[in-house]
Amino acid sequence: MFLDGSWISGSGGKVDVLNPFDQSVITQVDHADDGDVHAAVTAARKAFDAWAAVGVRDRAALLAKVADLLARDKDTIARTETLDTGKTLLESGLDVDDVISVFRYYASIADSDPGRLVDTGNPTVVSRIVYEPVGVCALITPWNYPLLQIAWKVAPALAAGNTVVIKPSEVTPLTTIRLVELLAEAGVPDGVVNLVLGTGTVGATLVAHPDVDLISFTGGVATGKRILHAAADTVKRVTVELGGKNPNIVFADSDFETVVDYALTAVFLHSGQVCSAGARLLVEESLHDALVAEVAARAERIVVGNGLDPASETGPLVSAAHRDKVEAYVAAGLSEGARLVAGGRRPDDPALANGFFYRPTVFDGCRADMRIVREETFGPLLTIETFSSESEALALANDTEYGLAGAVWTLDSARAERVARGLRAGTVWINDYHPYVPQAEWGGFKQSGNGRELGPTGLAEYREAKHIWQNTAPAPLKWFKG
Ligand code: NAD
Repeated sequence: MFLDGSWISGSGGKVDVLNPFDQSVITQVDHADDGDVHAAVTAARKAFDAWAAVGVRDRAALLAKVADLLARDKDTIARTETLDTGKTLLESGLDVDDVISVFRYYASIADSDPGRLVDTGNPTVVSRIVYEPVGVCALITPWNYPLLQIAWKVAPALAAGNTVVIKPSEVTPLTTIRLVELLAEAGVPDGVVNLVLGTGTVGATLVAHPDVDLISFTGGVATGKRILHAAADTVKRVTVELGGKNPNIVFADSDFETVVDYALTAVFLHSGQVCSAGARLLVEESLHDALVAEVAARAERIVVGNGLDPASETGPLVSAAHRDKVEAYVAAGLSEGARLVAGGRRPDDPALANGFFYRPTVFDGCRADMRIVREETFGPLLTIETFSSESEALALANDTEYGLAGAVWTLDSARAERVARGLRAGTVWINDYHPYVPQAEWGGFKQSGNGRELGPTGLAEYREAKHIWQNTAPAPLKWFKG
């Protein structure tokens, strides 16, 4: 744990961190107990006033320094991310590049919005809006993009002058530990950044702590709901970035090779363990047979393997428990009558037998009432539904409790715009899938979450707006005459 500027042992016991490729123990980490969490929050609270008073340019310079250090250590950090999550080294490297750009972006906009003057219509009054940090922020992250998700939180939180207590997923804590080391090396003052490790119990203690002012959480919907309930007791500010069940809509006028290619990357990158994965492929009727045949054939050819092996196109699932969950969904799909056209099994290769591997899986003939269509499987599982009109495509796409992301493929730009505007989701790609930039907001409609990360809104989440009214010519009001 990192507490008030020092690395110390946690009191919650030592826990193995496993490599999902072969179940080997990468290392052990210390988990925190309630007392550790309390100490971390106390350190963050104690450091708050001084850090909030640091000039914004100095805070921005610190973020820029962190970006430089991440660039310096990119290769070792990417390797650690691959060992911990199983994702390919190529993907881990891209994650580190993205994280660097997030730190640089928030360094660049930290001082861009100093507030504003308000015209009250009264010449003897100066009325201003100033922005102040919210306070102590608890930053809680999931296992699929550990470094990326914490960067989206910690960079704007520090830019805005908050102090933080970070709690990464117990499944993949390693690159978050590394990032905290780099924050310390960059010169973050003691107590401004604190790190506690542990399971959801540690997270829950953090969420309930009365000295925490803001929670920024990324993870599953069920956990998000628990956090929203728990945070209500102390009226904390809460941002939740939750799951998705994202539609990828393909009209028949699209370029065939391109949509096949993107249908696969939309869902099978990182073995489907992506909140914005295009897990529901909606295909126009006339294209259906050809598209399904080609997507299924190519899914069968995807090379799964060790993320450190450059030949691997995707890695294992993150844990045994997660693979169990995905296998249960495949069984549910079969029993509900979906037609399995690819995958549906673990790989045969004996070299992968110790890892948590599962083959890319495609179900055709899916209906909106099936569990594999409604629920986030978070695995390499693509469902295919068919539509015959634009309105049917939109209705199917929006028939979900989620609203994180989605895509539409068509050469008809007017239709693309109509569908993009009609989708109830926080991110819509037209003729593309997956790209994001730190300058553009990210977040969910409906049960995919509240609030936004990235972009200027991602900074605003960590600020309070304060109105300061100054009467420059005070004189008795004489409201009460006596
Ligand atoms: P999870 O909800 O199980 O856990 C997320 C984090 O919350 C972990 O650090 C966990 O220890 C902690 N936690 C668990 N119970 C808690 C509690 N009661 N109080 C406080 N903290 C608690 O999610 P996961 O399985 O780690 O991640 C997968 C989920 O994350 C998927 O649903 C995915 O869609 C979502 N996700 C969303 C986004 C997004 O941007 N919207 C990005 C990545 C992942």
